[in-house]
Amino acid sequence: MKTVGVLAFQGSVIEHKKKINEAGADAREVRHPEDLNAIDAIILPGGESTCITRMLNEFQLMEPLAQKIQQGLPVWGTCAGAILLSRNVDGQPNPLPLGIVDIDIERNSYGSQLDSFQYQTPVSFLDNRQVNLIFIRAPRIHSVHTCENLLNIEWKQQQEIVAVKQNNIFITTFHPELDSGCTFHRYFIDNYIKTP
Ligand code: GLN
Repeated sequence: MKTVGVLAFQGSVIEHKKKINEAGADAREVRHPEDLNAIDAIILPGGESTCITRMLNEFQLMEPLAQKIQQGLPVWGTCAGAILLSRNVDGQPNPLPLGIVDIDIERNSYGSQLDSFQYQTPVSFLDNRQVNLIFIRAPRIHSVHTCENLLNIEWKQQQEIVAVKQNNIFITTFHPELDSGCTFHRYFIDNYIKTP
C-alpha cells in the first residue's frame, strides 16, 4: 500500500488524512526528518504559511524536506502549502529552499476570510468530473513560467490559475480536503507516486 505523509504542524491535517485513507492509501503525520523515510509522497496542507514555516525551521525539517522534494518525492501543496513551494511570493523571491515551483503567487489576494468562496467546475484532468473548489483566504497565482497550468477558473470576469504541476510537484490554491469525495487525492496518489 502507498503511504502518503501530511506535514502535521498546523492546518488541515486530519482532513487530508481522512481523504488519503478514503483514496485507499495509508496516511502518516510528518514532523521530524526521519518521518520522511517512511513515505511515498507528502501533502503540505492549507493553514497559515507563516506558522508552518516557523515550525519547519523549529523542527529542523525545512532542509531535509526540500532535499527530498528536489530528489523527486511527490509533493502536493494546497493553499498555504502552495505558498511554501512557490518561487516568488508577494513580488519577492521566496527565501525558503522549498520555493522551487516557477510561479508568482500572492497571499490572501482574493480578500479576507469573509471573501472565501466556492466554485463548481468540471476538471479536465479528473475526466471532466464536476467538483466543488473551496477557496479560503486563498493565494492567487499571477503567472506560471516553466510549469504546467492545469486548471483555470473565471472569477469576477478574470481568468485565474488554480492548479499547477511541475514534475513531481502538484499545487492547488483551493482546499480539496474540505469537500466531499476524494478525486483529487486519488489523482495525486495515482499520477505522482511511481509504482515500483
Ligand atoms: N492565507 C494563508 C497564508 O497565507 C493561506 C490560507 C489557507 O491555507 N487557507 O498562509
